[in-house]
Amino acid sequence: MKYIPEPFKIKMVEPIRITTEQERREKIAAAHYNGFSLRAEDVYIDMQTDSGTGAMSDSQWAAMLRGDESYSGGRSYYELLETAQEIFGYEWIQPVHQGRAAEKVLFPVMIEKPGQYVIANTFFDTTRAHVTLAGGHPIDCVCPEGLDSEHEAPFKGNMDLPSLERVIAEKGVENVAGIVMTITNNSVGGQPVSMENMAATSAIAARHKIPLVIDAARFAENAFFIKEREAGYADKSTQEITHEFFGYADIFTMSAKKDAITNMGGLLGVREEGEHVPDVKSLVIAGEGYVTYGGLAGRDLAALAVGLREGLNEDYLRYRVGQARYLGERLDEYGIPYQKPAGGHAVFVDAGRMLPHIPWYQYPGHALSVELYIEAGVRSCDIGSYLMDRDPETGKQQQAPLEFTRLAIPRRVYTQAHLDVIAEALGEIKQRADQVKGYEITWEPKVLRHFTSKLRPAELRPVD
Ligand SMILES: *Cc1c(COP(=O)(O)O)cnc(C)c1O
Repeated sequence: MKYIPEPFKIKMVEPIRITTEQERREKIAAAHYNGFSLRAEDVYIDMQTDSGTGAMSDSQWAAMLRGDESYSGGRSYYELLETAQEIFGYEWIQPVHQGRAAEKVLFPVMIEKPGQYVIANTFFDTTRAHVTLAGGHPIDCVCPEGLDSEHEAPFKGNMDLPSLERVIAEKGVENVAGIVMTITNNSVGGQPVSMENMAATSAIAARHKIPLVIDAARFAENAFFIKEREAGYADKSTQEITHEFFGYADIFTMSAKKDAITNMGGLLGVREEGEHVPDVKSLVIAGEGYVTYGGLAGRDLAALAVGLREGLNEDYLRYRVGQARYLGERLDEYGIPYQKPAGGHAVFVDAGRMLPHIPWYQYPGHALSVELYIEAGVRSCDIGSYLMDRDPETGKQQQAPLEFTRLAIPRRVYTQAHLDVIAEALGEIKQRADQVKGYEITWEPKVLRHFTSKLRPAELRPVD
């Protein structure tokens, strides 16, 4: 059967305004060619992120009405605690307002001496930022296939084990504060990590007594990929796979805005409540709120507990990863290059290959993103050299390994017909690809520039 069954029907609709191309040209120019500065109501299909943009189910909305708003020890907290303990098998579960809040309270405690290293398959931007803010040095060790968009492999998000061993040996075990496994590996295109790779990473971490942390935003999509692609897992449930996978780590941080299908929320989990937990709790109380609410309303905790289970539902996951795969297949029909195979939450179009006349320092990924908005009102974002901040020491632009335009798919929000529009629009752009211009920045902040910079279309010029 080729079609993907969508395991829900629509009970409530949110109208979206259809704009004209002329209107979109004006809106994006007024936004200084930065998609983040657009008003969402001027966007037709919003593929900017899958974070916090999912549609909650009727069960989640019903649970919200029953949320317990007690300051401490609320029922909604205990329901969330028991659900998360069962799913992940961890002793201590801390709700926080979103994923980065978990990072903010964990890394200052985990990094005991300034200058220590933390090694990941690939850090997500906020995780990298919190390692740096806590005085640590983040190092990425993704497997080589992860950086080759044309190379099809089942687990392109894996840790490169030889590099991990080499970095530990080079830096010295005492200088490595932790290892992070991001599932799925967001920055290389939502690519999964295999159970085998997780087990091997865990063995290395255990041998050196280095704590292993899962950055677990897309834990359920990763479990479903293991079920589909890894020998020996076809008959295991995504719940069983999740339990086994988390058994290899010591700690997890999680943005619940992804696979737990809430609009706001996060978790921190610790497998065995050890000596560092009281310090983390102090940071939670100082920065987030008392430990049984962690910066969330009781109703948010309730929706999160339901979302954790819905996120693991296999009919849902088949549809979910099926949507990204479907969009990829439509792009194949138009000969649009993308990171293959399609990821769990997004399709990463290889703008560097699609717009080869635009040099990296005029941001092909961003240029394609602007063009797609003008063509069809679709908002996407650059995951390439525009996203990279300047080198803090030299002030020079840094080149990303790949120039992507990311099409992130919100959960349970868009239909297959919406995806068809996106594929067709990219097909149109391909016809006139050689006329698409690059961009230059007219104003940028010191860090995280892609959110707030101002840009303009650029003539070809050398790099500065
Ligand atoms: C989104 C995300 C985060 C940060 O979570 P927020 O909820 O946005 O703060 C961390 N790691 C990964 C892999 C993510 O995708």
